[in-house]
Amino acid sequence: MNVPEIFGSDVFNESVMKERLPKETYKALKKTIADGKPLDIELANVVANAMKDWACEKGCTHYTHWFQPMTGLTAEKLDSFISPTDKGHVIMEFSGKELVKGEPDASSFPSGGLRATFEARGYTAWDPTSYAFIKADTLCIPTAFCSYGGEALDKKTPLLRSMEAINKSALRILKLFGSDATRVVSNVGPEQEYFLIDREMYSKRKDLIFTGRTLYGAPAPKGQELEDHYFGTIKTRVAAYMKDLDEQLWRLGIYAKTKHNEVAPSQHELAPIFCTTNIATDHNQLTMEIMKRTARKHGFKCLLHEKPFAGVNGSGKHNNWSISTNKGVNLLDPGKTPAENAQFLTFLAAVIKAVNDYQDLLRMSVASAGNDHRLGANEAPPAIISIFLGDELTEILKAIVEGETYKGNKKVDMEIGVDVLPNFPRDTTDRNRTSPFAFTGNKFEFRMPGSKLSVAGPNTVINTMVAEVLDQFADELEKAENFQDALDDLIKKTIAENTNIIFNGNGYSEEWKVEAEKRGLLNLRSTPEAIPHFADKKNVDLFVKHGVYTESEIVARVEIFLDEYCKTINIEALTMIDMAKKDILPAVATYIKELAKTAELAASCGGDTFFETDLVKRLSALSSTTYKRLTELEDVTAKAQNIEDVQELANYYHDVIFAKMGELRESADEIESLVGEKYWPYPTYGKMLFYV
Ligand code: ADP
Ligand code: MG
Repeated sequence: MNVPEIFGSDVFNESVMKERLPKETYKALKKTIADGKPLDIELANVVANAMKDWACEKGCTHYTHWFQPMTGLTAEKLDSFISPTDKGHVIMEFSGKELVKGEPDASSFPSGGLRATFEARGYTAWDPTSYAFIKADTLCIPTAFCSYGGEALDKKTPLLRSMEAINKSALRILKLFGSDATRVVSNVGPEQEYFLIDREMYSKRKDLIFTGRTLYGAPAPKGQELEDHYFGTIKTRVAAYMKDLDEQLWRLGIYAKTKHNEVAPSQHELAPIFCTTNIATDHNQLTMEIMKRTARKHGFKCLLHEKPFAGVNGSGKHNNWSISTNKGVNLLDPGKTPAENAQFLTFLAAVIKAVNDYQDLLRMSVASAGNDHRLGANEAPPAIISIFLGDELTEILKAIVEGETYKGNKKVDMEIGVDVLPNFPRDTTDRNRTSPFAFTGNKFEFRMPGSKLSVAGPNTVINTMVAEVLDQFADELEKAENFQDALDDLIKKTIAENTNIIFNGNGYSEEWKVEAEKRGLLNLRSTPEAIPHFADKKNVDLFVKHGVYTESEIVARVEIFLDEYCKTINIEALTMIDMAKKDILPAVATYIKELAKTAELAASCGGDTFFETDLVKRLSALSSTTYKRLTELEDVTAKAQNIEDVQELANYYHDVIFAKMGELRESADEIESLVGEKYWPYPTYGKMLFYV
């Protein structure tokens, strides 16, 4: 495989544009993209035609506006290029109008009430900063998706708006430092975890089919305790899958870089090289889609759920975030000169304050029924937000605030921007995986997102909250008479006021929960608890001020998220009921009958029947308990119909239904551990996790 040759070969990227577009058109398009201006129709016509020719040469017959509705998945509606001519023939056509704007019927996408006030139709608009690409013989145009009133119905639009917000605010600060940068972008490298299991086993489990996770399942004799899977040798069949996946991602211009086995058996990870946030988001959505599709080809099922199996780790998506200028400067890189150090400290202080001020939003941005299984479960950070800086950097900040010497040798001069920061090696404890928001040398790693989540949501929050604090800083610094003094005061004050959010210890420990409460940090344990904070006044003010969400967009989203939570738990409850009634209880009944018959026969021959009779007793007692719990779950699930308020309903699903599901699983799993394997209706944890 010639990687440089195939890389990006299915993307209508800069080099294809340059090659295929008339010089003037290419220049005009680049300028439009750089200025973020709408595309003029004449220009769009030329670009569309070139795109169509290129796509048709590569075997495409259709095009689609590819967008990211509130389902968290991607959506497409395919149109062919055909256009009738006389005499019953067709030609292939694609107009500028079709490239720039689409008008899909929006009525069946979640809109959280936005649709009630506006028309059912939505429209999609090309995001020309993200290249068009070819997938399954279709030319895909990455687009944003809005209602007719212009309100965002997708995850991409607010993300693009938040990138504008941080661009503006960061440039205000950079100007004060005398930078010649004219654009600031946020970057993301999302590390994607996933499970691969055999497709045949998957197809025998209703829970995996309907909900993406196992709702029952007794533990296998072996789990992840030997830590022999993490970074272990990749099995041949999995390696073939990963190779195929890499190739397809590279064709799409996705920088697939690292692949390895993860902690849990059958769990793996793929990390790309970071890029601009909106493109990283598109690429991550595509990566997840292609992971699933490629799995089918190799006889696997790729599970992207945050917690497919109880008792072993679930899957997350570490979101590595930084901001950089169009002059190639990473604003989170400490730098080597006093000026660079001062600029770094300003951005660092802004992130620290932003995380503290908007803990609730960060937590909210990763809340989902699936991720509730991970956060705080000793395999992922707790639901409490804190920042890890490493011991060295924390000491330096402390010394700056207190005007003390750092580690007794080098004096930290109080004048930021005049003296060089003491050298701090990238702290060895940055392997501290228990922190939700860790500084890792020149970027922050937000470790709470679940594997399935679109990274658009969390990055919209991070960009906007940091933009806000940078604006507050700029307000203060712009009016200062002496910039150096003002900066010095601002940084000291900001760090002193926000030390409560900095925590370098073990985030999994019980002591941390107690300590965090003393520090006044939030602990929003579940999705129904976290989501409503989105609409808190301070958060609405934030998003409205920066033009990222309108108030009605926020209200709609709160409703969509809570509704999605309720529906997810409801499907899980119904699936559990179905499995217990139709498969598990009948299986145990058959086994009991077999045992009883055997006992009868054995007794008639004078044999010992202790094994059969004892097991029959235990299994029938457990069956009765399971049946009782099943009936209770049916009852409480039916009662959910009577609750109208979505918040109340979400609380009910969490407190009552989800709790009952746990009880039912407990007795059913105990049955599984006692029933002969050939009687059990589903592939076991052992088979699914170790037999690939
Ligand atoms: P780890 O040691 O945690 O695996 P890596 O340095 O390998 O960290 O990076 C993990 C991810 O972070 C990759 O996707 C990488 O491209 C991304 N990354 C590296 N530098 C930056 C940066 N400056 N901004 C954003 N992401 C980055
Ligand atoms: Mg990492």
